[in-house]
Amino acid sequence: MTGLPPTSKKKLGLVIDLDTCVGCHACAVSCKEWNAGGFAAPLTDERPYGKDPSGVWFNRVHSYEVAPTPVTGCASGGVDAATSAAQPAMTLHFPRSCLHCEEPACVTVCPTGASYKRAEDGIVLVDEDKCIGCKLCSWACPYGAREYSEVEGVMKKCTLCIDRIYNENLATEERQPACVQACPTRARHFGDLGDPESEVSKLVAARGGVDLMPQLGYKPVNKYLPPRPRRAGENGAKPAAPVPEVVDTAVLPPVLRWLDRVLSR
Ligand code: SF4
Ligand code: SF4
Repeated sequence: MTGLPPTSKKKLGLVIDLDTCVGCHACAVSCKEWNAGGFAAPLTDERPYGKDPSGVWFNRVHSYEVAPTPVTGCASGGVDAATSAAQPAMTLHFPRSCLHCEEPACVTVCPTGASYKRAEDGIVLVDEDKCIGCKLCSWACPYGAREYSEVEGVMKKCTLCIDRIYNENLATEERQPACVQACPTRARHFGDLGDPESEVSKLVAARGGVDLMPQLGYKPVNKYLPPRPRRAGENGAKPAAPVPEVVDTAVLPPVLRWLDRVLSR
């Protein structure tokens, strides 16, 4: 079994906004592209053009249909709960990757020390030279964040793009994970969640960011920002039909009156 370092002051991680994620998979593809040639390479594919393609993806995006929440506690004679909703049906896109837990089960369960947590920034990594492919870590991780390479026989996982974020050959603004760089809706944020004054910590505080399954006690560093409530329209009614625009041509300037006559022929 593998020990953990003392809790680090610096806790690098991601903040993922479930309100603005549109499920486009740009983060997943960008992650795959960068990491296929970097620290954890190769990210092998199996049967990429077959009926059941598989492979190593550090970041996967799942989409769910969320059922509408019925209105409850209506006054008598009020809204019909069967036909209205406090929260209309919505689609929720949920990007999933390693959460770089403060007390990661995947590390403590590892028999060889291949899985480890860095003392300096809290990033959880795998030393593939020590990994014997026993898969204990993937069974221990409750978030399904471990990725086993059938081709290489070793375990892999999100590295928080460790070869980008400290890469002095990159421009400063590019020293962030590939998924964060690629997200077209800015639903992904990267920073030090151990610093209460960091932009990511302020964002989590402002938006009520949450841990995934906190009851398990692994203290994930990554945070999710919950979706904002959607409006169903007043009492769940359909929105009113748009009012047709009527222009009083008599009040238009002469040139526009002439143009109106020409275009109306
Ligand atoms: Fe380990 Fe899973 Fe936590 Fe990542 S999310 S640190 S793989 S337990
Ligand atoms: Fe969501 Fe951004 Fe990933 Fe697209 S790139 S799936 S919007 S987090």
